[in-house]
Amino acid sequence: MEFSWNKEQKEFRATVRDFLATHLPDNWEHIAHGPGSASQSQFSRQFCAQLADAGLLVPHWPARWGGRDADAWSAFILAEEMWAAGEPRGGQYMNVNWIGPTLMNFGSKEQQARYIPPMAQGQTLWCQGFSEPEAGSDLASLRTRAHRQADQYCINGQKIWTSYAAEAETCFLLARTGTGKSGISIFLVPMDTPGITVVEIPSLIGEGDIHEVFFENVLVPASAMLGEEGQAWDIVRTALSLERVGIPRFALASRILHRAATLLKQRDRFSTGATEQAARAKAACEAARLFSYEIIDQRQKGITAGSEASVARIATVNAERAVAEFVVEHLPETLAGGDPLLLAHHQRGIVAGIASGAAEIQLNLIATQLLQLPREPR
Ligand SMILES: Cc1cc2nc3c(=O)[nH]c(=O)nc-3n(C[C@H](O)[C@H](O)[C@H](O)COP(=O)(O)OP(=O)(O)OC[C@H]3O[C@@H](n4cnc5c(N)ncnc54)[C@H](O)[C@@H]3O)c2cc1C
Repeated sequence: MEFSWNKEQKEFRATVRDFLATHLPDNWEHIAHGPGSASQSQFSRQFCAQLADAGLLVPHWPARWGGRDADAWSAFILAEEMWAAGEPRGGQYMNVNWIGPTLMNFGSKEQQARYIPPMAQGQTLWCQGFSEPEAGSDLASLRTRAHRQADQYCINGQKIWTSYAAEAETCFLLARTGTGKSGISIFLVPMDTPGITVVEIPSLIGEGDIHEVFFENVLVPASAMLGEEGQAWDIVRTALSLERVGIPRFALASRILHRAATLLKQRDRFSTGATEQAARAKAACEAARLFSYEIIDQRQKGITAGSEASVARIATVNAERAVAEFVVEHLPETLAGGDPLLLAHHQRGIVAGIASGAAEIQLNLIATQLLQLPREPR
């Protein structure tokens, strides 16, 4: 394999870096603390609107939806630079990566006209209402139910771990309209609909990051359904494949590792053990980067990624964990408020391999699909 960035790609990366250098305020790293917090969400609206004005929010979207028809590499270069900076787009990364493109593919004309332009302008936050207390990895067992009543649906149930729920205007909600996997449908639900209650779950990850969301006799018009009744599984499979490799967390991990190594050198505390651990963490970051590039290359060529996407995800989880462990072991004082960006990374590291789907599920896919191992050990 011969891989190098071409002139346009290098220029594009430089443009994004310049934008970040001129638009992130001096106190940005303090705002970044708590990716789902009210202050981060507020910041993301202002920042994403500026990104949109500069043509840097959705360059990979079709021109008719406010993009520039740029390729998959541009989207990933943009994402790498954003994550390396601590992801100032906040929850809007979901709009850009998968909610917008999913609406372009499956939305009605009315849904597209209502929801896509505000996303392209960086003005709106969504939340993802998938997980439930008894349905995380096994999403097919979800119980939130939507009953058809004439030209409306009445939704009852509970979601959990929902990021950005307190700040989002709209929820991309999975609810049961029948039995089994083919009995799940998607609803686009305004969060101010009567009957929705959001309760924050206190956590180590940061203020305002995760929530329970309760639905009690929530009435939505039948036109709030995305696609057809029972089509959720097909739609979500495509959407999540975009989500899982669209987040280059290794870029932030790499930057954190560099900062931690610099601090250790400055404090003259670099031991042999620390050197070895830093080198292993760096190798993990590079592995994650290259496995992710493999998927982007496939995306660019129109090939649907298979179990390689699971490998890229596991490599990214390993990189985040390796860097988080390095910091805990050698610079624990930075996590007690000494360095907001190291702390924010540590908080994200705690949930690496849980948020966006449990890593063990990806390991199962690698074992069965890539290694062709039997499902049950004999
Ligand atoms: C910070 C954070 C943000 C999140 N944001 C959202 C959000 O915005 N929207 C949303 O819908 N969800 C969100 N989630 C939920 C997340 O998607 C789930 O936590 C995840 O899918 C795992 O589900 P679970 O928590 O129910 O754990 P479970 O599925 O119950 O898993 C518990 C443990 O069992 C293991 N396990 C389960 N099944 C298998 C299996 N078949 N083989 C091997 N091991 C298995 C898992 O790996 C895990 O270690 C978020 C979670 C976190 C931590």
